[in-house]
Amino acid sequence: MASPTPESLVALDQLRLDDAKALLGRDTTLALPSSTESAATYLQSVIDGLCELSLKDPLTGLSNRRHFRSVLDRTIDMVARSGEPALLLMVDIDHFKLVNDTHGHPAGDQVLQAVAQTLAKCVRPMDTVARYGGEEFAVVLPNCHTVFGITVAERIRQSIQNMPVALASGQVLNVTVSIGGAYAPEWVRSTAALWTERADVQLYRAKHEGRNRVILDSQQEIFVSAEEKNMLFGHLALGEPAWIESVSGEASANAAGQRVN
Ligand code: GH3
Ligand code: MG
Ligand code: MG
Repeated sequence: MASPTPESLVALDQLRLDDAKALLGRDTTLALPSSTESAATYLQSVIDGLCELSLKDPLTGLSNRRHFRSVLDRTIDMVARSGEPALLLMVDIDHFKLVNDTHGHPAGDQVLQAVAQTLAKCVRPMDTVARYGGEEFAVVLPNCHTVFGITVAERIRQSIQNMPVALASGQVLNVTVSIGGAYAPEWVRSTAALWTERADVQLYRAKHEGRNRVILDSQQEIFVSAEEKNMLFGHLALGEPAWIESVSGEASANAAGQRVN
């Protein structure tokens, strides 16, 4: 393919990419790439800007829900292949509506940004912190051994509890979070929805039991769901002789409700 000419850069500028323009920090219809900037560099900056836009939450700079979802899928693949434990934490700010109601929406936004920054500082570079929605965040921790899960979650809870948020009004706020967590079942290809649901159940328990606390689904308590079981054994049922079917049927029956250790 021929390399792009300056003319093709002009054509690129005709594209309706308002968001890319904003990210590039210039009006691309007026300011064409400088003569020192190659077409490839220019294109790369547009692509980087669009990627950033499609993966990040604009208020906090964390991963958005779409990115979170793809990280979750990737992590499920990894766990199914390697059996390495991976933890998902759902983190929800306690009584956040009260912050908005008492101090106003901009103060609420400031709290969200502060919580996001603290969350990001509490985890490893390989972990993913996302804004799941509203005042709820999600943290995906691949390769997180079960003995470390509670340590990380407690570190997050305490760091946020001890994090003062200085408002424009001069007031200083403190907030707390409730955290629910679940490990992806090892050696079983789970789904993003089931894993999130398990962590959400624990978050609900943490709220119900008084907030500002961590509850993790212990690995031993995880049951293989019918959907996961189907993903594990489903293919065995395809075109097998009757005698194999009866054996795999027994295997499936034995696996029903079996705990994953
Ligand atoms: P709980 O302890 O049970 O979690 O109570 P809560 O008040 O934190 O939860 P609730 O779901 O009742 O309220 C969440 C509030 O979060 C309501 C909504 O207006 C607010 N919110 C959602 N997104 C944003 C945002 O982007 N900025 C601000 N300032 N507020 C937001
Ligand atoms: Mg809340
Ligand atoms: Mg919530």
